[in-house]
Amino acid sequence: MSQQQSKCPICGTLVTPSTDNPARPFCSQRCQLIDLGDWIDERHSIPGDESAPWPPDSDVTDSDDH
Ligand SMILES: [Zn+2]
Repeated sequence: MSQQQSKCPICGTLVTPSTDNPARPFCSQRCQLIDLGDWIDERHSIPGDESAPWPPDSDVTDSDDH
């Protein structure tokens, strides 16, 4: 009983690690693709460079109310 089974990170199905399963550690290629899609989605949702915020202090407050 030393056969280690891992759970598919996507659906939780027990996966027997074997070279028979090209989708390891996922249970199937479908879950593999789901995970890949998730990963790509995350990469795309990373915000751009917010290190340079737009300076809100413009001369708007300095109206022509002289
Ligand atoms: Zn799965």
